[in-house]
Amino acid sequence: MSVQAVAAKMAEVELKDVAGKDSLPAISPLTPKTEEKKSENYSTSSPAAAAAAGEPSPVTAASNPVKMPQASAMKRPDQQQNGGEAFVNCDGTVAEAPRMKKIQFADQKQEFNKRPTKISRRSLSRSISQSSTDSYSSAASYTDSSDDETSPRDKQQKNSKGNGDFCIKNIKQADFGRREIEIAEQEMPALMALRKRAQGEKPLAGAKIVGCTHITAQTAVLMETLSALGAQCRWAACNIYSTQNEVAAALAEGGFSVFAWKGESEDDFWWCIDRCVNVEGWQPNMILDDGGDLTHWIYKKYPNMFKKIKGIVEESVTGVHRLYQLSKAGKLCVPAMNVNDSVTKQKFDNLYCCRESILDGLKRTTDVMFGGKQVVICGYGEVGKGCCAALKAMGSIVYVTEIDPICALQACMDGFRLVKLTEVIRQVDIVITCTGNKNVVVREYMDRMKNGCIVCNMGHSNTEIDVASLRTPELTWERVRSQVDHVIWPDGKRIVLLAEGRLLNLSCSTVPTFVLSITATTQALALIELYNAPEGRYKQDVYLLPKKMDEYVASLHLPTFDAHLTELSDEQAKYLGLNKNGPFKPNYYRY
Ligand code: NAD
Repeated sequence: MSVQAVAAKMAEVELKDVAGKDSLPAISPLTPKTEEKKSENYSTSSPAAAAAAGEPSPVTAASNPVKMPQASAMKRPDQQQNGGEAFVNCDGTVAEAPRMKKIQFADQKQEFNKRPTKISRRSLSRSISQSSTDSYSSAASYTDSSDDETSPRDKQQKNSKGNGDFCIKNIKQADFGRREIEIAEQEMPALMALRKRAQGEKPLAGAKIVGCTHITAQTAVLMETLSALGAQCRWAACNIYSTQNEVAAALAEGGFSVFAWKGESEDDFWWCIDRCVNVEGWQPNMILDDGGDLTHWIYKKYPNMFKKIKGIVEESVTGVHRLYQLSKAGKLCVPAMNVNDSVTKQKFDNLYCCRESILDGLKRTTDVMFGGKQVVICGYGEVGKGCCAALKAMGSIVYVTEIDPICALQACMDGFRLVKLTEVIRQVDIVITCTGNKNVVVREYMDRMKNGCIVCNMGHSNTEIDVASLRTPELTWERVRSQVDHVIWPDGKRIVLLAEGRLLNLSCSTVPTFVLSITATTQALALIELYNAPEGRYKQDVYLLPKKMDEYVASLHLPTFDAHLTELSDEQAKYLGLNKNGPFKPNYYRY
């Protein structure tokens, strides 16, 4: 059965539930029929309009002036430096990579069998690629591993069926992991619906997916869904710290080839990726990546594999940026889906996720009381809006700083005082950066903060607070808790610096499972779409998910809230020039 037919069937049932109607036409949410496209009122002369009409649209730097500046604004300076890597072109010739972030490969540093000591493992991990520590839709592992110091690479483990094709911390933790997965399943309704609807019809039959994402309970739900849809999976972690060991154990016990544990060294990191792809008698035909490291590894080490690969699904800002670079240089060998920029992911990851996790991160680290506290939030984009809303709801007095008059006006209209940081820096209790910019909070401001001021960052990476400027001889650093430092001035004044200026929620709290459900559903649908797409639908380019698919992801989550969606009448649909089954908005609509 084709992906369209399966998706149509699933959409039919789910939308029926949502709309509370007896039946709806079985139109695929993934691929509208030709006549539907014609009936839409958006001009199809532009890529955005084409995408709005449900057509797959490659979004390149040139063709999407709105998206690309945003992506480049978010990237760190070090991501723009060239790794000088060689890439194999689609025609087999080798060429210099586009100017992009340097990744250090294991073979450039050391052989796999020259294993680092524990201390050097730690220091090695600091030089690991940025993407392995900065993607957002992840729940960092908060469950601790056992005291066993033996490297998983030195252990011979087998699951209860005698299968040993995995490398994890401890297979004996599988039962605990299973419970974690079952809890996550309750908050991932769309994946569970996909599993149910696709029973018997396997849209991923024959798919051999190699994945590199955070290995958490939520990822396990995704992997088990992909497997239920017919795929074989081999998986490594995209982050050296975020693996939930017990979940990895449950996956290995369930027969998945998982190569990951919490606290990998850089050498382990690349070794695990290599074990996923370099295996006799098995070649991947799909890639699911978060950060681009897996894709990069295959480009570097096994370029011939791309002959069999049907597509790449990439989830992170960094990974997507790399794909656009490859595409721009004409070096992308297969179609790729940018799920990072799909509307549902952006909104949920940035706005709603931060609205919930900002309080969690602050509370876990400082036990601060929010009521009546004066807080300044730098940046009133999606993340800033989420943080402001949460703190306002807790009774904090919230100030906002902005450089963009539109966002500034939004802040004013939402009832926040728009100020310059200098105006309030002496009086505020908490400073939160959410700009994606650099040096927003510099030493000069920190010198003027009051005693006990909490300083943290919710924006990209660790560039927003000039932490380096605090590492001077006259200031004393005191680690008071994990991820909490007191930086003490000579007169005794101290500021409370959280997570050394890295993303607070990623470092100090968890991310709501429901948010991850949306991302995971988007990933699953993107895999199904790319795997089943007829020859020629997707070229060697980077695509955004068709709008209809985004709408479908949202619709799959509505039953959780017993939400009843209104259906357009024929007359209304005609009046608006829309198809009754979507897409309901043009691609440029901002929500
Ligand atoms: P955005 O572009 O919507 O918002 C950033 C805002 O900051 C913009 O309105 C911009 O005008 C403003 N700004 C830029 N420089 C400024 C300065 N010097 N002072 C004051 N305001 C300034 O981006 P976003 O979606 O809100 O994301 C913000 C950052 O958070 C990005 O780096 C993003 O990668 C990151 N992010 C974090 C999480 C998380 O879970 N913590 C989730 C998603 C995104």
